Amino acid sequence: MDELMELYVGMGISPAVYEYGEKTLKKLEERFARVDKIAEYNQAKVISAMQKNHVSAACFAGTTGYGYDDLGRDNLERVYADVFHTEAALVRPQITCGTHALTVALSANLLPGDELLSPVGLPYDTLQEVIGIRPSPCSLAEYGVSYRQVDLLSDGTFDYEGIRAAINEKTKLVTIQRSKGYATRPTFSVKQIGELIAFCKSIKPDLKVMVDNCYGEFVETIEPSDVGADMIVGSLIKNPGGGLAPIGGYICGTQECVDRCAYRLTAPGLGQEVGANLGLMTALYQGFFLAPTVTAGAEKGAIFAANLYEPLGFRCVPSASEERHDIIQAVELGSEAGMIAFCKGIQAAAPVDSFADPMPWDMPGYNDKVIMAAGAFIQGSSIELSADGPIREPYAVYFQGGLTWLHAKLGILMSLQKLVDAGLVQL
Ligand SMILES: *Cc1c(COP(=O)(O)O)cnc(C)c1O
Repeated sequence: MDELMELYVGMGISPAVYEYGEKTLKKLEERFARVDKIAEYNQAKVISAMQKNHVSAACFAGTTGYGYDDLGRDNLERVYADVFHTEAALVRPQITCGTHALTVALSANLLPGDELLSPVGLPYDTLQEVIGIRPSPCSLAEYGVSYRQVDLLSDGTFDYEGIRAAINEKTKLVTIQRSKGYATRPTFSVKQIGELIAFCKSIKPDLKVMVDNCYGEFVETIEPSDVGADMIVGSLIKNPGGGLAPIGGYICGTQECVDRCAYRLTAPGLGQEVGANLGLMTALYQGFFLAPTVTAGAEKGAIFAANLYEPLGFRCVPSASEERHDIIQAVELGSEAGMIAFCKGIQAAAPVDSFADPMPWDMPGYNDKVIMAAGAFIQGSSIELSADGPIREPYAVYFQGGLTWLHAKLGILMSLQKLVDAGLVQL
């Protein structure tokens, strides 16, 4: 036994699981090399934006109160704008999460009487109350913004005829979710998003397009802002925070759209001028600096999991060989016991809370019990290794993240070990 296997065995991973993992990895060298190439490109893109904007120690100073003339904050926004090739950026710890960032972007750019269109089916769960698909106080619907949706065709492609018919004189903003999130549809490539944006704008040139970029940042060398999106929006406790940002969200886009977002986030007239950085600048800069390699590590974990589980008869979305456009991996385990075992493994491999025992529970807002595994340094951070899913057919766990590829590997091996221990898998 080599010393690494010995250590893993001490942590509860059997030689059979370890060796099955090593055999799987041998086939992935070329795939991983491609992921590294994309990371290298994005790393250079981030460093070059930091150099261009003269990032210096002065940028890391904390500010309080109004935060007028906050050098670090203003400069970080220029760095984001340069990386994502946009005119402007709003990157703030005052944006509490991804849903908040999306809410700001939508409510700043839609007025009473306007219509919002989703040409890619139902948006992410939390946005349904924001829009008013599920009624909620302060939803866009309550403010007189209507909503229209065109579902994807059964093969997961865009329903261009349906979209053409849905765009009308009220349509003001189109919202496109890049990642599948917790749905079963495919995640779109940036190229596909570009084609959809071009189509929508060919029908109505003054349409604005917002892309929910959550989980997609740095998975490719281009972003939706490179293919016509007026705004891209995301969370700093996912990819672009690199695991170090303790809070925050971003909106990058045209000056016009971002100015409106800043007025909505703070107040009309104040906009980006206020908003102290509260001493978080080092984490936000350093996290953005790490984000390309952290994202690559998470993506390798997703590829490894698909290639480990698919040959064992579990359906994986995306499949073992499919090209990836985000860091989420769904594994259909086929039973509640399978989901529990998988999540126990992810939890047991965590650096934090490894002693906790994930169990299905009745989570507010969900019809089915939900199970979650997370042992994160930052609460709820899903760029850290985490897994969850509703206890219902097809008993899929969605897992994502891993601040390092090697932690993702350990977590996935441990998940398989728990399935073996429960008698649900035989190697
Ligand atoms: C995570 C996510 C959100 C919401 O982000 P929170 O930070 O959880 O509020 C929105 N859309 C997509 C596609 C996401 O993955």
